[in-house]
Amino acid sequence: MHKLNDTAEKFQHRGINLKQVDWPVVLGIGAMHLGCLAAPLYFSWSALGLAVLLYWLTGAIGITLCYHRLLTHRSFKTPKWFEYFLTMIACLAWQGGPIQWVGVHRLHHQHADDELDPHTPKHGFTWAHALWCMHKQADGRNGHEAAKDLLRDPGMRLLNKFFWVPQIVLLFLIYAGGQWAASAWGWETSGLSWLLWAVCVRTVVVYHATWFVNSASHTWGYRNYETDDISTNLWWVALLSFGEGWHNNHHAVQRSAAHGLRWYEFDMTYWVIRFLGLVGLARDIVLPKPHEMPK
Ligand SMILES: [Zn+2]
Ligand SMILES: [Zn+2]
Repeated sequence: MHKLNDTAEKFQHRGINLKQVDWPVVLGIGAMHLGCLAAPLYFSWSALGLAVLLYWLTGAIGITLCYHRLLTHRSFKTPKWFEYFLTMIACLAWQGGPIQWVGVHRLHHQHADDELDPHTPKHGFTWAHALWCMHKQADGRNGHEAAKDLLRDPGMRLLNKFFWVPQIVLLFLIYAGGQWAASAWGWETSGLSWLLWAVCVRTVVVYHATWFVNSASHTWGYRNYETDDISTNLWWVALLSFGEGWHNNHHAVQRSAAHGLRWYEFDMTYWVIRFLGLVGLARDIVLPKPHEMPK
């Protein structure tokens, strides 16, 4: 079992710094978590089903497949119209626009587990998990520098600026859908039930799945590669995040569309990429060269 090595001691732990707190982000994340507390009081099976569906759509397809493997690392190519469509789905995860997300993640790879890494557990586990994104970057970095390719794309700039619009539209559709299901079809549910489960619970689960990649997959697990960082492969993070938990593999072979590289490292997102390849929506799928495979 890999554990943080002694160099972790060299880093000063970071906690809440009121001068740097990004209040709109904190309020948004706080509201979603508050919604989770109320959700059990308004449980309905249809709301749970919709939440699971949107967890897969926004977590696996939006964040993992689109923001991470397609936009950040260009692990495969896809038609432009489909790239915009996938980006719109990613916007529904309430994790910010594509330029911000991709830029910050590229900074993570450029500075993996060194002092300038936006989220390394060497600055503390809670910092790497959630606190980092509730703070403005101390040195004013916002990731845009690292995402210049996306900045040159007018469609991406538009989606980045108005990333909150699809979320709001979906929010109203979900509420209306719940009300409709209750009144027109007589289902035992309500708009509030659908809202609390398919928006609040689903968003919070995707938040923590993404955040565990940054915290737990740099803390516990095993390593196939002796990379310079402290990234690890961790099965339960891979399960929660649709394959992202094979994070040591990813740090070693960053452009690979497959993150699970051994037969038991299941990678559900890679299966979707293969399917997109079969139907002509993904090409030039990048895979590790034979000498890059785990020994
Ligand atoms: Zn990455
Ligand atoms: Zn990492």
